[in-house]
Amino acid sequence: MSSMNGRSDGLTQGGESHEEPISPSVSRGTVVLAATPIGNVSDASTRLVELLQSADLVAAEDTRRLYDLANRLGVRVGGRVMAYHDHNERRMADPILDQVRDGACALVVSDAGMPTINDPGMAIVRRAIERGIPVTCAPGPSAVLDALALSGLPTDRFCYEGFLPRRHQERLRHLRTLRSEERTMVFYETPHRIDQAMQDLQEVFGPDRLMALCRELTKEHEQIRRGTVGDIVRSLQEDPPRGEMVLVVAGASALEARRNDPEAMDDRQLAALARDLARSEGLRLKEAIARVAAEHPLADGSLPNRKRIYALAVEEDEED
Ligand code: SAM
Repeated sequence: MSSMNGRSDGLTQGGESHEEPISPSVSRGTVVLAATPIGNVSDASTRLVELLQSADLVAAEDTRRLYDLANRLGVRVGGRVMAYHDHNERRMADPILDQVRDGACALVVSDAGMPTINDPGMAIVRRAIERGIPVTCAPGPSAVLDALALSGLPTDRFCYEGFLPRRHQERLRHLRTLRSEERTMVFYETPHRIDQAMQDLQEVFGPDRLMALCRELTKEHEQIRRGTVGDIVRSLQEDPPRGEMVLVVAGASALEARRNDPEAMDDRQLAALARDLARSEGLRLKEAIARVAAEHPLADGSLPNRKRIYALAVEEDEED
């Protein structure tokens, strides 16, 4: 059984009672991860407001942004505020948890959205679980679910992929591992990499895959561009998007997934496929092999060895 304990009853895991809850939504001796607005400050929950006022300790990714949010909400942060970011989260997890063990309620917030979702928070969750300290969540906005819901693409099965690798080759390789992914995929992206990322998406998934580019969610200039990958690539040339953005890409159809399954074909089968392609489309064997290899990446996203496929294809030719 998981030792993660999200109770808000003020009991420790051993059943020992800590003091009374500070307010109905704030328990002593507990770590609370709280989501903050991703744009529209009115998305702050009542519970977040109560926690900001009443938690003994607020661990914030950026303390200035925390105070700015509190100002906009008209809230006075009651507890001690400390910086808790990517560079110190492992080091700070235990000192914070020591205070929680002594009865404090520690609130963890990131700059926007849900802590731990491409934001700090995971180190304290893991350590709390290891130490048997209750950890719970005051859920709320997160760009993943907002974009997914607005995309119009299937939501029954999806996977969150976070940010794509920055480097072109790594990004391509990573995307190739997703060629057979049948679930809707959600990626975070930045305006300065969106062009290259979209080119790579087009190269790997093809121009006809459906997708949505969701930008500035919950903000005044919220915009959802829906269409095929090719449509979105063209739209970027006409109207380069600014601000924060999420890409939601449809999964492969069952047929595509089978065709793209890296396990499905060995080099000899790829050689046969390339020979058929060369014949049917009047391509040079090398061109056909390059295409077949690009369409059948290995499980780690790298491409099959074209020289070996070429040798096998020539061998088959000679046998014919
Ligand atoms: N913890 C956040 C969450 O739960 O969504 C994510 C933080 S991550 C550092 C920031 C990325 O989230 C942005 O680059 C963008 O891809 C996405 N994002 C955050 N707010 C957004 C918004 N209002 N509209 C579109 N994308 C957003």
